Amino acid sequence: MADRRIADRPVPVFIGSEIYRGSSYGAWHPLRVPRVSTVMDLSRALGWLPPVQYITSPRAKPAALSIWHDPAYIAALQQAEAEGGVSDDLRIRHNIGTHANPIFAEVFRRPATSAGGALLAGELLARPGVVYAPAGGTHHGMPDHANGFCYFNDPVLAILSLRRQGLRRIAYVDIDAHHCDGVDHAFRNDPEVLLLSTHEENRWPRTGALEDAGAGNVFNLPLPKGLHDGDMALILDRLILPAVSGFRPDAIVLQCGADAVAEDPQSRLMLSNRALWSVVAGLRPLTDRYLVLGGGGYNPWSVGRAWTGVWATLNGQDIPERLPPEAEAVLRGLVWHGNRRGRTPPDHWFTTLRDAPHHGPIDDRVRARVDLLAARLRVMF
Ligand SMILES: [Zn+2]
Repeated sequence: MADRRIADRPVPVFIGSEIYRGSSYGAWHPLRVPRVSTVMDLSRALGWLPPVQYITSPRAKPAALSIWHDPAYIAALQQAEAEGGVSDDLRIRHNIGTHANPIFAEVFRRPATSAGGALLAGELLARPGVVYAPAGGTHHGMPDHANGFCYFNDPVLAILSLRRQGLRRIAYVDIDAHHCDGVDHAFRNDPEVLLLSTHEENRWPRTGALEDAGAGNVFNLPLPKGLHDGDMALILDRLILPAVSGFRPDAIVLQCGADAVAEDPQSRLMLSNRALWSVVAGLRPLTDRYLVLGGGGYNPWSVGRAWTGVWATLNGQDIPERLPPEAEAVLRGLVWHGNRRGRTPPDHWFTTLRDAPHHGPIDDRVRARVDLLAARLRVMF
């Protein structure tokens, strides 16, 4: 990243695109809401995203996607976008044109852009640095089919891109409310990829059991509903940080889904956005090559505020207690049709980035499960 230095120090790079602005999976889909465009607009309104730190994501070409995805599946998505629909045969074969994975106007270009950003991130991290790609994190995508709103699996592509730079040991940490079944599918037998996922128990896709250790490289922590910041602080200190530092990775990839935040409609976890930022900050000193991706996040205010705060955290920016008018205007401009919380958003969704902390007594189940996984770590390292 020699061309992106301020005062001769590499600065974090934000990979974004205008393709996400106005793109929707459809009027009733959870991904009808704006997300990445909000983060870009808020970050610019706060003066945190100068041009030197911004890269427009390239769109991955089919040949680049085919390092993990089936060429027939890639072609089917291109055809679906061109024709605005799919045949029954392709729908069944590739799980596209369904309620979860609909055909929409940018159904190939949008995921190919996120994938292109992930591949580029791996190339940029041939040199030490920090890359933020909030459009990434589509951790359910499978080689030959769409899964859980995900068409291509950009975390997998990012890890393969890092590998191409000669980086072998990759720590992948995933704090989305859902288990990263697609990333697990790719690397569960690869001892040079640490896979650590925290996710709500008894929730789709229902993979990621506590006992599932892969080749010894997989650490799954299913979480009870109501998980709060105190629980997450314990998980960070006793599991995530010791696992990653003990693994001695050449690079870290963090999937920072925002659907474990309390106001998200797709989980019953109760984190504040501070808990996500603690993980982002905690991992930073453990590597000189750090890629942070987005993921789930379906409340347009929660995801915009949380992910803008992630960017602030990566840059060491002070987050103001009350947002300046330009930033407040971005949040007041959001709408969330079809959700009751969209009708009467509380005022702090407009005027702040930082949530109030969500504390409580540590859940005994969380403590017991962390103890179990920590015991495995002591044997490994
Ligand atoms: Zn999720």
